[in-house]
Amino acid sequence: MKRVLITGAAGFLGSHLCDRFIKEGYFVMGMDNLITGDLRNIEHLFKNENFEFYNHDVSKYVHVSGKLDYILHFASPASPIDYLKIPIQTLKVGSLGTHNLLGLAKEKKARIIVASTSEVYGDPTVHPQTEDYWGNVNPVGPRGVYDEAKRFQEAMTMAYHTYHGLETRIVRIFNTYGPRMRLNDGRVLPAFIGQALRGEDLTVFGDGSQTRSFCYVDDLVEGIYRLLQSDCSDPVNIGNPDEITISQFAEEIIKLTGTTQKVIYQDLPVDDPKQRQPDITKARAILGWEPKVSREEGLKITYEYFKSLSQEDLYKKDHKSFDKYIQ
Ligand code: UDP
Repeated sequence: MKRVLITGAAGFLGSHLCDRFIKEGYFVMGMDNLITGDLRNIEHLFKNENFEFYNHDVSKYVHVSGKLDYILHFASPASPIDYLKIPIQTLKVGSLGTHNLLGLAKEKKARIIVASTSEVYGDPTVHPQTEDYWGNVNPVGPRGVYDEAKRFQEAMTMAYHTYHGLETRIVRIFNTYGPRMRLNDGRVLPAFIGQALRGEDLTVFGDGSQTRSFCYVDDLVEGIYRLLQSDCSDPVNIGNPDEITISQFAEEIIKLTGTTQKVIYQDLPVDDPKQRQPDITKARAILGWEPKVSREEGLKITYEYFKSLSQEDLYKKDHKSFDKYIQ
């Protein structure tokens, strides 16, 4: 039986990856320190004999016993609000955490895939973003803690590949959504749906002309699964090229939820990228992959998930575990 370690296992993407690898017949070791993760996302896996959970911060030395075939490094705060609240932890998990997991992969002769991001392109001057674009990142801006940690992560991962011959994969993930996103993480989709469910106005930042391209989580997981099995050690964009302005997106959420609230405009956050769309030519060519789930379909499923949450979840302002990390 193949054994896989998934970091960030209790998070949005990590938990879906745990499900997928369990389904594929792997023994899954999930690891998370639960700063932004939530055990409810993987509660259903605890009764599975092929699943184990470790409550551990991967910024500190990581060890698991026995053989290991794959490591998926998906631990990190991943929303602008989160990494503004816990900037040092964000930097550490992308840098020190990645180093620890690369060391573990080397020790175990395991293949490792690291979760990178479209944020490595910063506020891009090339559109759509291809993997050979080097990006436009402000290292000392509010997003710098995430963007630079992820850029360092890519450099470190490539160095282990080049100098140690480690089998490495780098996935550049574009905006992804679906069930198990945190309702209060500040990202635009949970923000809008949460506002609609609470009967509040929808807050569009800036004039709403900035664009994003949203990928449904199942499509993303399929792309990651294929990339891991491939022999490509260069970064690969995985995302849905269906681009939309944030204003149009707000209108779609209003239609979906039937809310009678209106859109209100607030200041655009510093360094907020003006446009984002993945060029997925490479993923199509080498993985035979492209997204299958339309935004209409994906949003319906996601809305049902958010509707099923408790009133307490709906009104909770923050993640409970932040308190002990924020000085
Ligand atoms: N946004 C918004 N209203 C919100 C939250 C976000 O208009 O309540 C905007 C944000 O300024 C950005 C886009 O939606 O332009 C996507 O933001 P998100 O935080 O989801 O992720 P990003 O792609 O910026 O990392």
